[in-house]
Amino acid sequence: ARKPLLAANWKMNKTPEEALSFWHEFSGRLSGETGRVEVVICPPYPALPALQGADLRARGVYLGAQNVHWESRGAFTGEVSPGMLRAVGCSHVIVGHSERRAYFGESDEAVKRKLRAALEEGMTPILCVGETLEQRTAGRAEEVVAAQLTAALEGLDTGRAARVVVAYEPVWAIGTGRSAESRDAGEMAAAVRRRLRELAGPAAEEIRILYGGSVAPDNFAQFLAEAEVDGGLVGTASLRPESFFALVASA
Ligand code: 13P
Repeated sequence: ARKPLLAANWKMNKTPEEALSFWHEFSGRLSGETGRVEVVICPPYPALPALQGADLRARGVYLGAQNVHWESRGAFTGEVSPGMLRAVGCSHVIVGHSERRAYFGESDEAVKRKLRAALEEGMTPILCVGETLEQRTAGRAEEVVAAQLTAALEGLDTGRAARVVVAYEPVWAIGTGRSAESRDAGEMAAAVRRRLRELAGPAAEEIRILYGGSVAPDNFAQFLAEAEVDGGLVGTASLRPESFFALVASA
């Protein structure tokens, strides 16, 4: 059985002080949920050291980053290496988020390198895939997502592949308040699983598949009820301690 995973992607929100204040309120509500659900908080880079200094690990919560560079050091202005993320307590890292692909020109090739570099450093990459509205309307959703998975994962050895987490996030459902229908998300997750089997063999059964895109306390249970959905990657609803806790409690 795959352990459910719930990851908070704060995007470009919260100072270190705000991150700590979230943590104090959120952790005050926790009572054993993290034994059952893997909970990951992904703040902006500057808030990582503050959270590293808090008691996340003691409360069973993991720290993640929202991006990473594939090189370990050197003349790459503005970039952060996997080893640097480890040094500030990150065990997880989001790679290939659609906002990075769309606004920062992140290519499939870059996503592949980032994923490999994160695995090399012993981290858990959360690989984001998903189609645009235009691609869905054209009936190409499965094809687009399959191609993104192939580009990122092809040739990966199966031991490493099992550590990958895939987040299916339809671009049109992100930050719009309009989530996918749970049935459609379930079908896409099943398509992701099929492609993972082709790419990674038996390791595919261990890979967690998350749904992301306007996840909220009132719709999350429906997504989790889908056989191939193992958790969620949450933006807006992860910014308030009470709504993120409600999601954790329902997983
Ligand atoms: P929202 O939950 O705000 O739709 O964002 C989803 C997302 O992009 C998580 O990575």
